[in-house]
Amino acid sequence: MVAVPQLREYRSSWRRKGHGTSAQCSVLVELLTDEGLIGIGESPVVYAGHPEVTVALLKGVESLILGRDPAEHDVLRHEIYAETGMAHLGTQGLSWALAGLDMAMWDIVGKVCGQPLHRIWGSPWRTASTFYADIPPADPAQMAEEAVEWVKRGFRTLYFKVGFDPEMDIARMAAVRSAVGADPRIRVDANQAWSPGAAKRIISRMAEYQPEYIEQPVLASNLEDMAAVRQSVPVPILAHEASLSVEGSLNVIKHQAADALQLDPRFDSGISGARLAAGIAEAAGLPVVTHTFGELGVGTAAVLQLHAAHRNFILDNQTYYWNLTDDVIRGGLLPFDGSALQIPDGPGLGVELDPDRVNHYAQFYEREIATQRPTVHSAATEAHYERRYILRPRE
Ligand SMILES: [Mg+2]
Repeated sequence: MVAVPQLREYRSSWRRKGHGTSAQCSVLVELLTDEGLIGIGESPVVYAGHPEVTVALLKGVESLILGRDPAEHDVLRHEIYAETGMAHLGTQGLSWALAGLDMAMWDIVGKVCGQPLHRIWGSPWRTASTFYADIPPADPAQMAEEAVEWVKRGFRTLYFKVGFDPEMDIARMAAVRSAVGADPRIRVDANQAWSPGAAKRIISRMAEYQPEYIEQPVLASNLEDMAAVRQSVPVPILAHEASLSVEGSLNVIKHQAADALQLDPRFDSGISGARLAAGIAEAAGLPVVTHTFGELGVGTAAVLQLHAAHRNFILDNQTYYWNLTDDVIRGGLLPFDGSALQIPDGPGLGVELDPDRVNHYAQFYEREIATQRPTVHSAATEAHYERRYILRPRE
């Protein structure tokens, strides 16, 4: 368990404990082989700011992993699904925790071959990958100012949350578009906030400001209405909560409910699941982007290998990597060039843990984070959270 301080507080659109802290927490995974290779991976904190839950879930499958051949990890992944009940009950939550194992096994495969993963997967389609800027909800003029700063830094896509008061959502979009001009892309995320009728009305009004995508406008479970919204508005729709798994991604495509899919290299047990979903989307002719749950350099390297390996990662992706003050990998933070990170070309994931940094940030976690559990933000005092998940019709 490690925690790395961030430049600014990251506040989730979901009112969760563990978000709103000033540090990025992760669980690092190391797999040792009998040949002396070490595969590294990174698992997210899957339960309310408690990394020990992720550790417990990883330890729960330890006996299935020990003594196995990492080259057979696709078979092993399905065995874990069967033994843990994920095959029967679904994969969310537990599969996220196990993502670090999948990552570490792929890292071993890359090290055995002496090649970065994207080359093993038959690529690169690109040598660098680009990401988008995240603007926290605020006064429209303040958001416009921040948008201009991001564009000056070289970011081409601006992202912010909508699904609050519709007039404020539109005012924010108008202010940001007016400040940055026609070129930068504006992507907004409703996190399922709108009813289908409200989505149609609000997106139609937003169209004037040329948003690149509207992310998850309606309930992810209601693909029929998501498809109907998509059919009726002149703005492309990006699936997110609807495409949290391979099966979810397939269902979005079957229902023609989105123009692009957002994947996560931790959904469905890691890079393996994300690669399957990216392939299905490619066959359907759809672009894909990666979601972030907050990751350090190991998880970021896995994302970059994924981006290089699939030709349909043509859009800017989500990350909070620019928010970190340091990293746990050798050399520290991977450097941004504008909004781009280079695809690592070392064996496996292409990055290595720095033992001194790992030790330092493990101690930081124990000293600063484990002893001070974050509290739930108050909806009454924080306007950021004054949202309606299902928008009611106007009175
Ligand atoms: Mg989203």
